[in-house]
Amino acid sequence: MSNEGLIENYNNLKDIKPKHLPKEVFIWDETLRDGEQTPGVFLTIDEKTEIAKLMDDMGVAVIAAGFPAVSKSEAKAVKRIANEGFSASIAAPARALHSDIDACIDCGVDEIPLFIASSNLHLKYKLKMTREEVLDRVSDSIGYAKDHGVVVDFILEDSSRSEFDFLVEIYKTAIESGADRICACDTVGFLRPLSMKYLMSRLRDEIWKIKKVPLAIHCHNDFGLATANTLAAVEEGVTFPLICINGYGERAGNAAFEEVVMALEVLYGIDTHIKTDMLYELSTLTEKFFTVPLPIHKAIVGVNAFSHESGIHVHGELGHPLTYEPIAPESVGRKRLFILGKFTGRHIIRRKLKSKNIEATDDQICDILDKIKKEQESIGKKERCDMFDEVKERTLKMHSGVDDNRFWAIVSEILE
Ligand code: MN
Repeated sequence: MSNEGLIENYNNLKDIKPKHLPKEVFIWDETLRDGEQTPGVFLTIDEKTEIAKLMDDMGVAVIAAGFPAVSKSEAKAVKRIANEGFSASIAAPARALHSDIDACIDCGVDEIPLFIASSNLHLKYKLKMTREEVLDRVSDSIGYAKDHGVVVDFILEDSSRSEFDFLVEIYKTAIESGADRICACDTVGFLRPLSMKYLMSRLRDEIWKIKKVPLAIHCHNDFGLATANTLAAVEEGVTFPLICINGYGERAGNAAFEEVVMALEVLYGIDTHIKTDMLYELSTLTEKFFTVPLPIHKAIVGVNAFSHESGIHVHGELGHPLTYEPIAPESVGRKRLFILGKFTGRHIIRRKLKSKNIEATDDQICDILDKIKKEQESIGKKERCDMFDEVKERTLKMHSGVDDNRFWAIVSEILE
């Protein structure tokens, strides 16, 4: 079906094309690191490896496999993924400490995202370090990691709430110490897209004066702006977006893999090197292993993202699928669904009957519609609410961690 002349696409206007927009980006997935830090979630080594394998097959450039310094079993998982022979570069983060870097080297990873924080807040209350101490630690740890022959990404936590001149100073130190890539973070999802563009354009100019290293961005979703901010950063020349499948991650999560990839591909025409028709498979596999149910209306991968019930929409869809859909469901490995329910209209009924060469009068169609609506209401509202409460309670229970009663029982066992 030709779409020629049917819709205007303002995204393609030359006048608004960002000057530094890259032609391609390289997806850096954080699902197995930041994603797994979703409260109450844990993955087995086999699950981690299976997700990593699928991402590798799909064209993910960098897979953050886990945080080796956390525990022996985490290090074991990273080691296993690093030894699978994937095409993706396998990364494991380290604080700016020799012991963390050693833990990554022991796992045989290709690259180390080395991180430290830069805001006055983090320096004073978390790191308890002066700026000079931070700069010393950065040059020392990057030098130490580079001596082991790995790629080093330098990540500044809370950079979006850090003083600009200090950001430049610390990034400069990192580059001069051998950092291969530079990453900024909107750690608590605090920027607006326009502020992100401002910050990244100024940082890009200053950083590229020193050396034209690739730039990365890590955005959180506390205001629901993680995807928008990630795209804003790409508009300013960032080529390594850090993203998590289904938007999983700490608190309100990270920029969602499927949203960032599809927006870059469709709305910007940027090559992400991702086989997008595998997105749904990746999303469902990850959802199952995380045991974190997705909202039914989640963009791209939610159950309803390509479902239609209302008679008006279904009628439109049957005429031309772009009427009420921005992309073909097949492009992300999905199928369009027509749901029969309260808002169903006669067009879908006629279409279904026609597919089996069945004739029906208008009255008969009305009767069929009546029955469908009654059928849907056969599970009463009270019963529905009870079912919902049960599912909700069990879901929350699964993710509430070790409860207070258990905590005090553990304490008394140990202190006895
Ligand atoms: Mn994070």
